Amino acid sequence: MYDYDLLVVGSANADLVIGVQRRPGAGETVLGTDLAVHPGGKGANQAVAAARLGARTALLARVGDDDHGRLLLDSQRAAGVDTSGVLAGGAPTGVALITVDPSGDNSIVVSPGANGRLTPEDVRAARDLVRSARVVSTQLEIPLETVAEVARNLGPGSRLVLNPSPPQPLPPEVLAACDPLIVNEHEARVILGDREAGERPEDWARALLATGPRSVVVTLGAEGALVASAAGEARVPSVRVRAVDTTGAGDAFAAALGWRLGTGASLTEAAAYAARVGAAAVTRPGAQVSYPTAAEVDAL
Ligand code: ATP
Repeated sequence: MYDYDLLVVGSANADLVIGVQRRPGAGETVLGTDLAVHPGGKGANQAVAAARLGARTALLARVGDDDHGRLLLDSQRAAGVDTSGVLAGGAPTGVALITVDPSGDNSIVVSPGANGRLTPEDVRAARDLVRSARVVSTQLEIPLETVAEVARNLGPGSRLVLNPSPPQPLPPEVLAACDPLIVNEHEARVILGDREAGERPEDWARALLATGPRSVVVTLGAEGALVASAAGEARVPSVRVRAVDTTGAGDAFAAALGWRLGTGASLTEAAAYAARVGAAAVTRPGAQVSYPTAAEVDAL
């Protein structure tokens, strides 16, 4: 039996946010608001999202031996995530330096820090943890070779969910392990590269399926999502909500989808549930603090 419904292998960042009247140009200094520090990173976000929904969740990640690392561990534990797989040291915790102007446009610089030091060897050392999860979910804010090692170490019968963000071309062995590959339009186009992508989500999904994944999910923001597999394609409608802040909606969607698939839901059912989770997440500001509980999803 599996110890975890979902293991997230991915990044953990401290988001350092300053509001500014105008984002600075080259050589310019501007004054901004007080600094706000939030736990973030796609891996950490996904783990918190799943745990808040009630999934037995663990995180395999690397943070620095520093205050930002402790902030991230605290937020994981508060959400109920098992952090025994979180490694500390080797580099400072990853940070995202974010400036936001009054229109909501932002500029972001990411220092991967410890995320870049989560190695294939770390995955091999955590093999028992990887094999103890029904579903393993990962992203690309950690090295691609680490993601490939995760794909090689899955337990029999467990499945890999990959959101290739930030996108880069993927090797065939990683593509073949995805069930599903979860992409937005930009990620779909980067992964398809020179291949003919077409204009419609159905076109991207078909072209992506031909590269090897067992299934593909295309997220479409307020339009919901499209699921595709050898069995065919289906549109999954979104839930109509008043969007306040879409930060981290994609991470909540991916985590919810992975968890539901592990409980035996079909791809369409899981995506429909994940769309409700994503919709709930955009109704509140922030990333992790915006994630709903299962009761809040049911009430939506
Ligand atoms: P991110 O920008 O976080 O990486 P993404 O581009 O991967 O996100 P989105 O498509 O923005 O992902 O959002 C994921 C899912 O969340 C969507 O498929 C949809 O179900 C839901 N969602 C996002 N925005 C909205 C919205 N404005 N209204 C309703 N649902 C939404």
